[in-house]
Amino acid sequence: MTSRWRGQQLGVRGRHSRRKGYRGQWVVVTLLAVLATVVVAHPDVAHRDSLAAQVVAGVNDVADEEPVASVTPTPVATPTQKFTTPLRPAPTLTRKPKGAKPNVLVSSGKLAVVPGFSKANGVRDKLTYRVEIEQGITVNGAAVAAAIHKTLTDPRGWQALHPVSFERTDKPDADLRIILATPTLTDKLCLPLDTGGEVSCRVEDRVVLNAKRWIYAIPAYNGNVELYRSYLVNHEVGHALGHGHSTCTTPKTPAPVMMQQTKGLAGCLPNAWPTVKAT
Ligand SMILES: [Zn+2]
Repeated sequence: MTSRWRGQQLGVRGRHSRRKGYRGQWVVVTLLAVLATVVVAHPDVAHRDSLAAQVVAGVNDVADEEPVASVTPTPVATPTQKFTTPLRPAPTLTRKPKGAKPNVLVSSGKLAVVPGFSKANGVRDKLTYRVEIEQGITVNGAAVAAAIHKTLTDPRGWQALHPVSFERTDKPDADLRIILATPTLTDKLCLPLDTGGEVSCRVEDRVVLNAKRWIYAIPAYNGNVELYRSYLVNHEVGHALGHGHSTCTTPKTPAPVMMQQTKGLAGCLPNAWPTVKAT
């Protein structure tokens, strides 16, 4: 717009000058040439600008795909953000390389309570629990809490054997804390028990689930991670209910939930449910 406006002004001045002879005509020719240059040049400049914009965008696109921290680090997506993305998430700066597993190696040492409440489905003695997750573990807190509650209130679970109804809360006065932690923090929270960076524990009001096991399970479960997670929860909560360890007494039958299945099944079959075999 600006250049066209300037061109019109120049044109008017040119026509006025033509009446004053050859010198005026040269001025007109020169001015027209300038006008043409401006009009022709303008779209070119604009085009160059858009090309430059594309190149810059292209550079950024390449950088986005670099898994190495060559880009200014962006805030790590919160677990909630990660799990509420669509099934086919659009590429973002926080996108992980294909096949990447959640982090369990870097321990922040800080726990965050998963907010929310899951009502008890029983009428007997209510036992409240709170889910806490170590910050930095890239799991969805709500999904972890939902899986824990599903296990605890399952008809095959402890509620069928004990006069207890599990209810999830996020209040500080919960009876039990169920904590998902990196191996490093698990070892600390489980002291004086020795979890060796591999297993989980229950100490006082703490049920500490080792995130390494929660995410990777154990080979004996043959990829059935969900079942192994139920075992993990039922085994450690079983301790909180007063149960000690048991062993596999009859190979090829379901392992007792209170067997230390993570250390090996000794010929028994994977089992997560106390009503199938508790001890
Ligand atoms: Zn145990």
